[in-house]
Amino acid sequence: MKNRERSAQLHEQAMDVILGGVNSPSRSFKAVGGGAPVSMERAQGAYFWDVDGNQYIDYLAAYGPIITGHAHPHVTQAITEAAANGTLYGTPTPWEITFANMIRKAIPSMERIRFNNSGTEAVMTCIRVARAYTNRIKVIKFAGCYHGHSDLVLVAAGSGPSTLGIPDSAGIPQSIANEVITVPFNDKQAFADAIEKWGSETACVLVEPIVGNFGIVEPEPGFLEEVNRLTHAAGALVVYDEVITAFRFCYGGAQNLLGVEPDLTALGKIIGGGLPIGAYGGRREIMEQVAPLGPAYQAGTMAGNPASIRAGIACLEVLSQPGVYEEFERLGEMLAAGIREAAQKHGVKIQLNRVKGAMAVYFIDEPVYDYDTAQKADSEVFARFFRLLLEEGICIAPSKYEAWFITTAHTEQDIVKTIAAVDRCFAAL
Ligand code: PLP
Repeated sequence: MKNRERSAQLHEQAMDVILGGVNSPSRSFKAVGGGAPVSMERAQGAYFWDVDGNQYIDYLAAYGPIITGHAHPHVTQAITEAAANGTLYGTPTPWEITFANMIRKAIPSMERIRFNNSGTEAVMTCIRVARAYTNRIKVIKFAGCYHGHSDLVLVAAGSGPSTLGIPDSAGIPQSIANEVITVPFNDKQAFADAIEKWGSETACVLVEPIVGNFGIVEPEPGFLEEVNRLTHAAGALVVYDEVITAFRFCYGGAQNLLGVEPDLTALGKIIGGGLPIGAYGGRREIMEQVAPLGPAYQAGTMAGNPASIRAGIACLEVLSQPGVYEEFERLGEMLAAGIREAAQKHGVKIQLNRVKGAMAVYFIDEPVYDYDTAQKADSEVFARFFRLLLEEGICIAPSKYEAWFITTAHTEQDIVKTIAAVDRCFAAL
């Protein structure tokens, strides 16, 4: 067993002053049997070192943003330069224009862009803008998709298609939840039924074009096209939540990879190069609803801060180099093939979903294509696998619903090591 005494001590101290010992619930080990989460002290490239000196290969990538690996020299230099010149001005700066142009060039549907501080804010504002533009209230979302922690989107699926939402958190008024309709992802009929029933009251349909919040789930052929067609026919807007997907599978959004365009897009994670950020944008006449041009209000003291913006520019510069996404595909396929082979060798039933360098391993013997199927994956086996992997020095998220992320810092050697570790874990399961 690895010594994690200091992590345990820190957890005790944290429990006394930080609510639940963590600053985001997904960091707790509650879903994998409890106990102290590992406290990390240092990170470089594809590796973490914890407070007890143990080293890990990192596939958590901070839940997605760290796509160029930890402390990438180009990103670090940008942050250092920004810090030396002042981190917050409260005025326009040249870098935010450069960055907005970079994003628009990569994701042309974002004709006008606004930066803010998190994915939560970006999605929340897209909904406000869609409501202002359409003068309607209701929002349709897909079951199991996470769109941040604002009241509007913390609504779970009811049973059966198109049920009215029930709040997924205490503190959310039923009246707000009533405005959210949840349908299963990849279910054209359920979506058509929802539009038939609520289309004329719907402001927008909120979509993760490739789902990253119950593992990795791709849309079935034609699904997103149908969502666009029916939504627009009902006079509502399509909002893509690309907080996880943008710049992950190609230099652009999943919308560019899949060839389907939304009216509004929310971004976060990767575009901050590891610093806090969010952004939203879309068709010009829709975005012109936002103050100071229009009546919909959105603001932020920290929005567009030079440190996040310059880190984001540097991160996209790294990702724009030739061969980056081809390498994600090559290493992703190598890791996936190795894990599948190990599972077969040891008779472990898994389903592995992957797009480029992002993948999910489900302990289940059937395809995972929506939230219901993802939920059926064995949580108890996942928890054991997670802990065995930690002992092997491999760090993934402590949840069966989170993806593994390969970064530009991962090497073939890391993948080979990981496959060998997974093989031993499967043998021990
Ligand atoms: N949208 C998606 C698809 C996400 O995965 C997340 C976070 O995981 C969010 C929105 C919220 O982003 P943030 O945590 O930056 O508020």
